[in-house]
Amino acid sequence: MREIIERVGSAQRPAVEDLARLIGLEKPEEIAELRESANRIKAQTVGRVVYFRGLIEFSNVCARNCHYCGIRLGNRKVRRYTMPVEEIVEVARWAHLQQYGSIVLQSGERRSRQFVRFVEDLLGRINAATNGGLGVTLSLGEQAPETYRRWFQAGAHRYLLRIETSNPALFRALHPPSVTFEARKRCLGLLREQGYQVGTGVMIGLPGQTLEDLARDILFFKELDVDMIGMGPYIAHEATPLAAAENAFPESRRLEMALNMIAATRLAMPDINIAAATALQALTPTGRELGVLAGANVVMPNLTPVKYRQDYLLYPGKPCLDEDAEKCRHCLRGRIERLGEEVGFGRRGDSRHFVGRTAGKAGRE
Ligand code: SAH
Repeated sequence: MREIIERVGSAQRPAVEDLARLIGLEKPEEIAELRESANRIKAQTVGRVVYFRGLIEFSNVCARNCHYCGIRLGNRKVRRYTMPVEEIVEVARWAHLQQYGSIVLQSGERRSRQFVRFVEDLLGRINAATNGGLGVTLSLGEQAPETYRRWFQAGAHRYLLRIETSNPALFRALHPPSVTFEARKRCLGLLREQGYQVGTGVMIGLPGQTLEDLARDILFFKELDVDMIGMGPYIAHEATPLAAAENAFPESRRLEMALNMIAATRLAMPDINIAAATALQALTPTGRELGVLAGANVVMPNLTPVKYRQDYLLYPGKPCLDEDAEKCRHCLRGRIERLGEEVGFGRRGDSRHFVGRTAGKAGRE
């Protein structure tokens, strides 16, 4: 164990077998050793500080039909909403007042000119309402180069776009033909060129996925040299085609694998930001704390107004569906501090990795 952990931590390109071994660990004492090592590396590189990213799921209107997602176009049972721009700005202002360093704006995927303009205008208003003091991450899917450029200029500086899986065949099985692995990868390159802090991630425990696939996902993150990772367990949503697929991993195992995956990623990429995704908490009430203890340094408190939350179910079992942002804030702060970690209030908490790789370049930031 010790040797594997050390090899993964020091190799330029860790071996697939080593990574797969760590991700698949099942013995409690081995799991503890892995996660403790990862948490130690985190403390040494990015510190024992957890940053809050207030998540605003501002619209569930979506033009795509991903086989796993509860708000896919084909799910006619979903009541579709888009929050009015003033309401979104109000939530962002609240986050700023609470000293959250950043927000994440997430929605279904749309590419119409109207949508592009809506987001651009929204970014300008959020900036004005918070004196540019709030970090803004976008999670709005695949877009044209020009759109990424406009949103960056309007004030967004981080972008999350999950690759979902780095196995192209599995990617094809999870998406309709209009959604391609190549396009997804191209978008990740465009975002980097544009100057965003780039985040990606995968779902863990998908039907047809293997431990080797997950090991290669980490190598993919490393090759792409990403700044941030957000990943969590796959959770079947009954109104999606993928729910019928057989899965080799029961949910409890997926949770375990997701935590091991966070730890292995921290070992392989010590200075990036890693989020303890909300999906962890959907499988167990303390999921996000476990994520932090396994090496994550970002959590995303949900700031979506309660009246919309029932309609933004990418997967079932999402926590706090009836708890407003104020309650979440107090409960989450306590949870993090009880772990002996500090909450990075008032700081943006940019990815160390990004700061390092762009240092010396004519300066933004
Ligand atoms: N439409 C945007 C953002 C919303 S989806 C986009 O596609 O980027 C955000 C993430 O939720 C997806 O990337 C996917 O990894 C995750 N997700 C969707 N359905 C899920 C499910 N059933 N279980 C776990 N995660 C899921």
